[in-house]
Amino acid sequence: MQIVRVALDIPLATLFDYFLAENMTVVEGQRVVVPFGRKQVVGVVMECAVRSDLSAERIKAVAQILDDVPPLPAELLKLLKFCSDYYHHPVGMTVLSALPTRLRSSLPVALKQVLTYSLSASGRLLDLEQLPKRKVVQLRILNALQERSLSVAQVRALSPTAPATLKLLVEAGWVEATATAVSAGNFTFNEEHRLTVEQQSAVDAINQTQGYHTFLLHGVTGSGKTEVYVHLLQQVLQRGGQVLLLVPEINLTPQLEYYFRSRFPDTELVSLHSGLSDGERTQNWLLAQAGHARIVLGTRLAVFTPLPHLALIIVDEEHDASFKQQDGLRYSARDVAIFRANERGVPIVLGSATPSLESYYNARSGRYTLLKLSERASQQAQLPSVRCVNISNALLPEGISKELLAALGERLLRGEQSLVFINRRGYAPVLMCTACGWLSGCPNCAGKMVLHLKDRRLRCHHCGHQTRVPHGCPTCGNADLQPVGIGTQRIETVLQAHFPEARILRVDRDSTRNKGTWNAMRKQIQDEAVDILVGTQMLAKGHDFHNLTLVCVLNPDSALYSSDFRASEKLFAQLAQVAGRAGRGDKPGEVLVQTAFPDHPLFRALRAHDYDTWAATLLAEREQAGFPPFVFQVLLRAEGKQEAEVYDFMQRARSTAAGLAMQVEIYGVVPAALPRRANHMRVQLLVQSDTRKNLQQFLRAWKPLLDVIPAKKLRWSLDIDPLEF
Ligand code: ADP
Ligand code: ZN
Ligand code: ZN
Repeated sequence: MQIVRVALDIPLATLFDYFLAENMTVVEGQRVVVPFGRKQVVGVVMECAVRSDLSAERIKAVAQILDDVPPLPAELLKLLKFCSDYYHHPVGMTVLSALPTRLRSSLPVALKQVLTYSLSASGRLLDLEQLPKRKVVQLRILNALQERSLSVAQVRALSPTAPATLKLLVEAGWVEATATAVSAGNFTFNEEHRLTVEQQSAVDAINQTQGYHTFLLHGVTGSGKTEVYVHLLQQVLQRGGQVLLLVPEINLTPQLEYYFRSRFPDTELVSLHSGLSDGERTQNWLLAQAGHARIVLGTRLAVFTPLPHLALIIVDEEHDASFKQQDGLRYSARDVAIFRANERGVPIVLGSATPSLESYYNARSGRYTLLKLSERASQQAQLPSVRCVNISNALLPEGISKELLAALGERLLRGEQSLVFINRRGYAPVLMCTACGWLSGCPNCAGKMVLHLKDRRLRCHHCGHQTRVPHGCPTCGNADLQPVGIGTQRIETVLQAHFPEARILRVDRDSTRNKGTWNAMRKQIQDEAVDILVGTQMLAKGHDFHNLTLVCVLNPDSALYSSDFRASEKLFAQLAQVAGRAGRGDKPGEVLVQTAFPDHPLFRALRAHDYDTWAATLLAEREQAGFPPFVFQVLLRAEGKQEAEVYDFMQRARSTAAGLAMQVEIYGVVPAALPRRANHMRVQLLVQSDTRKNLQQFLRAWKPLLDVIPAKKLRWSLDIDPLEF
């Protein structure tokens, strides 16, 4: 009897054994349908075993083999097994969650044919001189086809209307389509800039590597990291390889996609992110697996794309917390990418203006190679001047100081754009009663409900609960309720009152909720139909607006006294990032930061554009306090409706851990930063160790013990290398 071990989307740490009927054959990585309980489910064959530990009568048969798409490659299966082990997440759930939704179902998947176009027999007989000259696109296509066969991407690169014209040519019988692939290595590269010396040496260093190596590309904002990527891509494409490029934000993919397409117009590029429809995502994944897609651009989930010719991985903005998944398989796509590069024996480039301390420390200690771009790439562009506006003695009922208003006024006069950055959406973070001090708390959470004045609602940003703004205080009936603090909507209102003629655009999650809005807004900004941008971190990343010369930062201070030890690292990264939006064109940029602590080392480093000193300060602090990157951590979280049950579980978990007497440090059971969310009490327990190895050893012993602690009415999870506490 032939036995196969199958990964199923079931929360158990095992594979499941099934037998194959006589006439069936499968290979590892193939999708199958198997009976589980009373259902038929889709799974992935992980092992073809000779025998099973189960008795024969307990083993059921594989119901169906799905062979409409090729099996998952061994490399991917190995990567997923590693993730399951390292993150202590059930193997079946790990494997299935990496697949596009379509591939998790047994419905047939129609693989779109990748067609190649060439001249037909009658097409070859055409005399192009005889054809009407005004049909420019038609001539261009026929001319190109006389040279060689073309893929759709290559045809599209000839003209935006070329695909339509091509269709006519096929109908006329002059051009025919076949299902064979165009050979790699033959592609157009639009060279745009001469690389700077620093860019060139970074490109050379990476190109000269054989096999696995991690590079940290530390380049100030505007230093041309993207240009370095482009040149690396060109080299890889020439050798017929595939490149995986990971970016943190789904919002950044369309513009990067557009940019890379403009540089490699006839190269097959696909994007992979959660904004695609299931069908698109599946097709793009299959194009990558088939080797057709040469450039794969995606968010964290794209790290699990099968890539037979993978030759280089790039992780842009590697410090960004969005690379870490916060539920299910809590993986760091950056770390998984490094593991993958190592297994595949290919180089990986981590790019950032403000590297994570983990990566920076690895580069400093020689495990990674540090490559620096210390100046802006374009001759005219200079790093902006950064100044702090001391507001420690100022009363700012409207949240914005005179200095900032004056600077904004100047830009309006000069016809330049400004950006006002505040990391809080809504009108005000809380509504208060002036008589009794009532605050708009969320009934389900420990947090406050945010005032959204546009639709007159109070909304909890943690659980989504919302109510109308009350007419009077729910406690004392007083009608005078006042917003406290500021959010994007309030700043927008204040600025509009101050500058009635200014064209102000608010960019945050509320204003960009509808699909396509953000794209339209970006165009508006680029076309200079906007004078002042008010926005959250959505605006901080990656954008290149040439006429933007002023960035104002409001309210950064709360991160300075946060209980999260990474808060100041994140704040610096965010401010350096947002400051980097100013002065990218030929006009100098200015950044004004409103703070009560202008002498804080963070602001000093920001003014001096001195990441290195700042990182050294933080690393010294972390080493002394025993925080990452000097230790390795795991966080056990639990939540449930009954406080006593949650604590009981956590105390048991803690004593089990202590009972193991291994080389780890076990902290106390404490409430989470947000102790109650959506009526669930949230509690956590931190365990750490000096080495990854010791921590992993401990986890291997601890996890099975956790699995058997009764936990019916609560949810718990392990977060390895947690970023949020
Ligand atoms: P980063 O990603 O490091 O912030 P970008 O790659 O967006 O920087 O580049 C910033 C700007 O500099 C872009 O407008 C880009 O076209 C330009 N640029 C990049 N490399 C060069 C170069 N070698 N010479 C001139 N301009 C360049
Ligand atoms: Zn009141
Ligand atoms: Zn809530």
